[in-house]
Amino acid sequence: MIVLKFGGTSVGSATRIKEVANLINTSEKKVVVLSAMSGTTNDLVEIAGYLYKKNHDSANEAIITLEKKYYDVIEALYATSEFKEKGNELIKSHFTHIKSFTQDMFTLFEEKAILAQGELISTALLHYYLTEQNINSVLVPALNFMRTDKDGEPDLFYIKENINREVNQNPENLIFITQGFICRNAFGEIDNLKRGGSDYSAALIGVACQAAEIQIWTDIDGMHNNDPRHVENTKPLANLSFDEAAELAYFGAKILHPASVQPCKIANVPVRLKNTMQPEANGTLVSSETNGGGIKAIAAKDNITAIKIKSGRMLLAHGFMRKVFEIFETYKTSIDMITTSEVAVSVTIDDTKYLNDIVDELKKFGTVEVDTDLSIICVVGDFIAESKGYALSVFGALKDISIRMISYGGSRHNVSLLVNTSDKNEALNSLHENLFENV
Ligand code: ASP
Ligand code: MG
Repeated sequence: MIVLKFGGTSVGSATRIKEVANLINTSEKKVVVLSAMSGTTNDLVEIAGYLYKKNHDSANEAIITLEKKYYDVIEALYATSEFKEKGNELIKSHFTHIKSFTQDMFTLFEEKAILAQGELISTALLHYYLTEQNINSVLVPALNFMRTDKDGEPDLFYIKENINREVNQNPENLIFITQGFICRNAFGEIDNLKRGGSDYSAALIGVACQAAEIQIWTDIDGMHNNDPRHVENTKPLANLSFDEAAELAYFGAKILHPASVQPCKIANVPVRLKNTMQPEANGTLVSSETNGGGIKAIAAKDNITAIKIKSGRMLLAHGFMRKVFEIFETYKTSIDMITTSEVAVSVTIDDTKYLNDIVDELKKFGTVEVDTDLSIICVVGDFIAESKGYALSVFGALKDISIRMISYGGSRHNVSLLVNTSDKNEALNSLHENLFENV
């Protein structure tokens, strides 16, 4: 069994859906996990936002525009009038459902139910298309097996039991199609694994089914050794270890959802990042194997805020750090980087929802400074934070850039540097030149 996940752009048009059908029509048993067609989840978020604000005119307008887009997809996707009709009925029923959410009470629950429609539609479209082409497939509703527990974490035991039951009901079938992103919570209500969560769905499914491999299909040929949006001549990486991939995914390489690496690492299920536009290319294989030491890749994460707490009196006292971290914990805000000195501690966060509350509480301990518009540059590889020479090459490359914080040695795989976002481009390019080109 393998798991293949196709992201929004990979199912973004009738043509792309047909290509997916082609790619999955092989003799191997597989679970196919789909995102919503690209743009749809954003549109649904917008619609839910209008409904929440009781702006029904704007909601209706946005609903009608999106619905129309889907009728065009139906027209282009199916060849026979039978399936065009079926497709149109499907779209009509989903949009009738969306339009029904206009009651006065519009809560988070209704929002989640609206957001789920994108994946429910894309999977049904593919399933119909395969049926029209006389290719057998079974649609397995994610809402029947994907579930989170009362802490909002995936309930792997439940997922395992239920997806395997669904799959085993059809032992002869080769293609099982299911929705990424959507799930039920511990109360059985419709929920989701947060934006970009369909990679996470694929990882959980792969682990639950003990898949031989999880393939994440996108529109780029694997993870690159630097950010192709900012640096020329970046190269795809053939291999990465789970730890390296986790660091890269977290620190900016947009191609894989960071939460998806950990379950695969624990269950030792390899993840292959593949390109729908170049299906024959190997892509990047993420596995427990590492192909030796050295610097592999550079990534950057924007919208970072640094908070510095200065307190001569308190910092030496034991228990001080705990008190600081407790404040972040209370506000469910995770910290990315930390540096300390005798008189100050600096941390970075990317979620600033509770920044004001956090700062107010931190002020009890001393003076607090907040810096915004920062980026974390992350250099990833094997042993780079233990072996000689790597620090010099990283810092040498950044000699003309002011560095606000450095994190080195937290893991063997990562050196992180905090810079002004305005210096990010120069930093990425200079690192690229020094670490990959002039060596
Ligand atoms: N459709 C969802 C989103 O756009 C999930 C995903 O694509 O991974 O966030
Ligand atoms: Mg994605």
